[in-house]
Amino acid sequence: MGVYYNGSALVETAGGAGIMEDVVIVGGGPAGILLAHQFREHGIPHKVLERGKVGQSWRDMRPGMVLLSPGVPGTDWTSLTLQRPIWAFPGVRRPFPTREDFLCYVDAFARDQHVEVTERTEVTGARPTPEGFTVTVAGGDEIHCRFLVIATGSNSKPHYPEVPGVAGNPFVFHSGDFLNCMAYDGKRVLVIGGGNSAAELCIQLAGTALTTMCTRNPLRYFSDSAELDDIRGSSESVLKELFRFRILSLREADPVVSLSGGTAAFASGEREAFDWIVCATGYRPRWIPIGGGTVDTGEKGYPRISPVGESSVPGLYFCGSLAMFHRRCAFIHGFRNYVEKVFWDIADRL
Ligand SMILES: Cc1cc2nc3c(=O)[nH]c(=O)nc-3n(C[C@H](O)[C@H](O)[C@H](O)COP(=O)(O)OP(=O)(O)OC[C@H]3O[C@@H](n4cnc5c(N)ncnc54)[C@H](O)[C@@H]3O)c2cc1C
Repeated sequence: MGVYYNGSALVETAGGAGIMEDVVIVGGGPAGILLAHQFREHGIPHKVLERGKVGQSWRDMRPGMVLLSPGVPGTDWTSLTLQRPIWAFPGVRRPFPTREDFLCYVDAFARDQHVEVTERTEVTGARPTPEGFTVTVAGGDEIHCRFLVIATGSNSKPHYPEVPGVAGNPFVFHSGDFLNCMAYDGKRVLVIGGGNSAAELCIQLAGTALTTMCTRNPLRYFSDSAELDDIRGSSESVLKELFRFRILSLREADPVVSLSGGTAAFASGEREAFDWIVCATGYRPRWIPIGGGTVDTGEKGYPRISPVGESSVPGLYFCGSLAMFHRRCAFIHGFRNYVEKVFWDIADRL
């Protein structure tokens, strides 16, 4: 039995020995850090559990990658708070910071704001208890808390097109596993996808590999549509020029309908052989298993949440890019304002 103070009395926990934490946050990415900063500023005890190091998702991304979000005075889509902006750091690339700039910034933010993160601690699951939740970490240790916030991001489950011949094909890999173009010199590479990841990958490969981009629909550019999912940032003009010079090939609105080894069959009826096929087809949301109850999901498999981020399981909140308060929440400038809503709701209930 464990014992905790619930604000008016000492309560015994049924979940076994151990201290009852007020709040556990799973994930030490931008959203988890920002939420922990709010709790710290208000003196509310909390614990952040991170499977790797602070900002691990960004550490796992391609070195040298340039962000799509500008980070300059007036148009700052990158900073966690506008009071502590990324552009105030010396040497940050403008207007679009690099992955390395962003990582340094997140590290510095956590350090300067005294955000404590328990690193190298992977959460494997959680279950509701009468007092809140019991969280299990790899190795089997358990942590008890009253409120649980999942901030594990929306890029943990690579998505592949549902096309015969993709699953288990050794010629196929996901764009998240691409590091640099050196291994593809002179190779025939098919990039499936028409979004920003596909565009960035094609630009990386251009001139090194014989690269073909293949899209389901006509290509769409941010300068025409103002849609954040369309090709934007530094990619737009470079990509257009590479198609014009025929350094890149394009199969526009001619999707792959099946694969047989490295040979792709397209909707147009044509077939072509490739050495590698890269799926730049995004990610799907996934989070830790919640025992003893399912979390209701909505559009595209994201958890259904209240206007303050609480899920269908009472006391279980989602935060950051997993919490689709709004479509823009896939990006930092979209979710950073919503983190405060999660914070205030939990703070009011403690
Ligand atoms: C290639 C690419 C480029 C992008 N470019 C931009 C951009 O330019 N601008 C922008 O705003 N957004 C961009 N994004 C989206 C970006 O991922 C989000 O904006 C942001 O990182 C989301 O923050 P988050 O804290 O919600 O999730 P994440 O950054 O994914 O952080 C989640 C954290 O949870 C940890 N974690 C996961 N599972 C567990 C577990 N079981 N136990 C413990 N810890 C766990 C992870 O290690 C990670 O540190 C990009 C995404 C990708 C894939």
